[in-house]
Amino acid sequence: MATQQAPRIPNPDVPIGFLGAVRQWVYPAKVSGRFQRVHRILGYLQLVLFFVLPWVKFHGHPAFLLDIDSRHLYVFGSMFTATDTVLVVLSLLFGAFSLFFFTALFGRLWCGYACPQTVFLEELIRPIESLIEGDRGARMMRDVRGRWTPDWIWRKVAKWVAFTVVAVVTAGSFVSYFVPAMELWTAQGSAAAYGSMSFFSAIMLADFGWFREQFCNYLCPYARFQGALTDDQTLVIAYDLQRGEPRGTSRRKGEQPTGACIDCKKCTNVCPAGIDIRNGFQLECVNCARCVDACEGVMAKLGQPSLVAYTTIAESQGRKVKWVRPRTVVYAAILCAVLAGFGVALSSHHLIYANVNRAPGSLFTVDNDGWIRNTFLVRITNNHVDKAADEKFRIEVEGLPEGADVRTIEVSIAPEQTVTVPLIVRIPPDSKVPRTLPFEVKIVGATDEVEVDTTFKSEQAL
Ligand code: SF4
Ligand code: SF4
Repeated sequence: MATQQAPRIPNPDVPIGFLGAVRQWVYPAKVSGRFQRVHRILGYLQLVLFFVLPWVKFHGHPAFLLDIDSRHLYVFGSMFTATDTVLVVLSLLFGAFSLFFFTALFGRLWCGYACPQTVFLEELIRPIESLIEGDRGARMMRDVRGRWTPDWIWRKVAKWVAFTVVAVVTAGSFVSYFVPAMELWTAQGSAAAYGSMSFFSAIMLADFGWFREQFCNYLCPYARFQGALTDDQTLVIAYDLQRGEPRGTSRRKGEQPTGACIDCKKCTNVCPAGIDIRNGFQLECVNCARCVDACEGVMAKLGQPSLVAYTTIAESQGRKVKWVRPRTVVYAAILCAVLAGFGVALSSHHLIYANVNRAPGSLFTVDNDGWIRNTFLVRITNNHVDKAADEKFRIEVEGLPEGADVRTIEVSIAPEQTVTVPLIVRIPPDSKVPRTLPFEVKIVGATDEVEVDTTFKSEQAL
């Protein structure tokens, strides 16, 4: 089989790639087709969501904000604190196993359609580049032959200015998930917030303008281990070797017959990874399907199906595709278990947070009338961010012997505020209680209540 290198040419501006490797600059051509329409719709949706979400408010808080200072996470009007870490861990596990599950079935679907690197590059950066510098041919010619001409200079300056604006706005939007957007964009943020924004702007500018596909090839951990998640039943993008080879342009009578591939190189010219899919599966392929759209366009004119398509190794070898296999079953089972755990954790998520501590000093006191007294401090936090008004809380106890004397007060607490309330428990001298008596303190609000276990201490014998 004839193999051919992807038509990449060195960019005189950027001859050196990551860690000094010789880099061949990739000039992907524009392409349209059914998969690119899906890309565009999904990409624009993600971009709109990413830029708009920090500005949307629910109950006075951003739709999504991880406030590092207060250690509060706001998600669509609900507030989570450090005590809800298990929910965050379960969400991350769900994300990780979803990725494993979908990778086992559909390959690098994430890379091709949802990864921010792909979405920003394909839907924002390359369109800006094409608008200013033209399509593949014009960019290549200008970089090779037209360097340091006025035309080359103004286009490069305009492109980098545009990339800088996109990088700053993107970095600002990213930081707005950690610092309220209004605060950040009205110059009221902290030095750390603007320091982070500058840092991410620089990183993004380097990525948009220079690093690009090298991120997937050298830095992305997912690209490295995805080989372990797939098998011959996983969906990949592949070239139909049987039908396509021997490739060639000759179709004249009497000449050696060629395969269906006319060697137009459109599939390689549109590839953002700079590879030739006809050379077989390559790690650099991000399954973006640009080559599929390109070949579909070419082959449609010849009345034939595309030579590059979504398939599986099993299918290309004439075997049946099996969607249900050990690895997909295991991943699906783990996903279900994580989802169930998330449901349980969410149902026990309370909007009142409370702890009960013994007041500093002795464990217990015997009053003049012989009653045994324990004093506690109950710390109550009202996490009801969805309510504008203060909420009333009362304290009840359960598990104490009959005749116990409980003294405390009812409190009104504003949303997101914490109040400490004294709780005095007295037990009559004739009560037969152990030295340590477990009991429950219940904090009751208008819509929610929590229980905290504690103990009553005394010197009494059973
Ligand atoms: S080979 Fe095709 S699917 Fe893979 S990265 Fe290149 S254009 Fe995208
Ligand atoms: S686009 Fe299709 S016909 Fe053209 S080179 Fe690629 S595989 Fe061959």
